[in-house]
Amino acid sequence: MKAAFRIGYGYDAHTLVEGRPLILGGVRIPSDRGLLGHSDADVLLHALCDAILGAASLGDLGTHFPDTDSRWKGVSSIHLLEETNRLARGKGWKVGNVDSTVCAQQPRLAPYIPEMVRNIAQALRLEEGCVGVKATTTEGMGFVGRGEGIAAHAVVLLTPVEDETPSIPPWGEEGAPE
Ligand code: MG
Repeated sequence: MKAAFRIGYGYDAHTLVEGRPLILGGVRIPSDRGLLGHSDADVLLHALCDAILGAASLGDLGTHFPDTDSRWKGVSSIHLLEETNRLARGKGWKVGNVDSTVCAQQPRLAPYIPEMVRNIAQALRLEEGCVGVKATTTEGMGFVGRGEGIAAHAVVLLTPVEDETPSIPPWGEEGAPE
């Protein structure tokens, strides 16, 4: 018999470099530096994807979206989150709620959190009240504190999809990324 729920945990960190946009939770945030990565390096959404994949026992982000695959170069991580949600649904699990924390010394993220919550809720077909996004500095400690990078932690609760009616299309209504 299927368990009543599954929990999952995800963690990610990326390096801050000049000449890259800073994208967190699908929001482009004004900053003189951005995160380095093959996709848009959205560390928050990557942690969320890994939490969902972990809870559904589906491996991790690198398993499904390898950085050796040119399809994922520069792709919006919102698409990765939508696809991850579809993969979990394919295994009979839907997301109940998510919670997350972004660790960044700067810039100040509070003004952008409502838009991050909206983006995540939309990608996962969740009510905004089921999405937690928090931000913290590390008070100057460690690689985050020195401004070398940004990290994110996420947890997720999955519950069984009641019936295995048609799964949602892989890319949502927007179609596949270019
Ligand atoms: Mg990553």
